[in-house]
Amino acid sequence: MKIISIINQKGGVGKTTTVINLAAGLSQLNKKVLVIDLDPQGNATTGLGLSNTDDSELTIYGVLNGSKSILDCIKKTKFSNLDLITSNVDLSGLEVETAGDEKRAFILKEKLADFSKENQQNYDYILIDCPPSLSLLTVMALVSSVTLLVPLQTEFFALEGLTQLMKTIERVKSNLNPKLGIQGILLTMYDKRNKLSSEVEKEAREYFKDKVYTTVIPRNVRLSEAPSHGVPVLIYDKTCPGSKSYFSFTDEFLNKEFQIESVA
Ligand code: ATP
Ligand code: MG
Repeated sequence: MKIISIINQKGGVGKTTTVINLAAGLSQLNKKVLVIDLDPQGNATTGLGLSNTDDSELTIYGVLNGSKSILDCIKKTKFSNLDLITSNVDLSGLEVETAGDEKRAFILKEKLADFSKENQQNYDYILIDCPPSLSLLTVMALVSSVTLLVPLQTEFFALEGLTQLMKTIERVKSNLNPKLGIQGILLTMYDKRNKLSSEVEKEAREYFKDKVYTTVIPRNVRLSEAPSHGVPVLIYDKTCPGSKSYFSFTDEFLNKEFQIESVA
């Protein structure tokens, strides 16, 4: 069971789109995937066809306030091999409500450890969709994960935000989670007619070398339409350029995993 957070404190860079479509791609290849929506906006929840207005505590909020277990809150999506822990706006109150608890950054990690201990049939991957901030929720994700997948929008300021993220990652590594690694960096919303896209790509590849996936996700309107239908683009329109790019990203993701395993 590998826990990967999809993270970037910058808003609207393609985190949720990447979570949904990587999860869909992996599940279609018979990997068992659990998506945890860790964003009060609940975009991964609705994008996978479930409700982000469920006011029971059977959401990630219930897990993080201590009242529910991971197992209690797992919901099936309509896609095989793909389950979800939903989110709702209650999650935005968590930081204030738990202010007195000094161990609060570890609760997600502990709940996930309990889950993996108590459960026979586990997931191949748990993908955590992070909110656009470097808040408590993001720290919880950083503490719980083995690796991070960083979507990078190929636009101005993209790399500046990344420097800040890398500093936070280093701080978490030295204090809270020494084994945390970078799974990879995925360039998103690439527009080949725009010179800036290729400049950001060049800089990212020079600086982060082979951490940057060869696959690039183009700007594609189908990718933005799919969530309103509550399905991954890989199902909404499996032949559009956006889908092709996420299929090829899924393959590259798995190939890299395989290379890492065979070296280890
Ligand atoms: P937030 O920080 O708010 O959680 P995010 O990083 O999760 O945002 P997404 O929600 O995945 O980003 O994407 C932001 C918007 O851009 C959404 O409307 C999404 O449908 C759209 N979008 C994402 N990727 C692409 C793409 N490659 N081409 C076109 N539109 C895209
Ligand atoms: Mg999002």
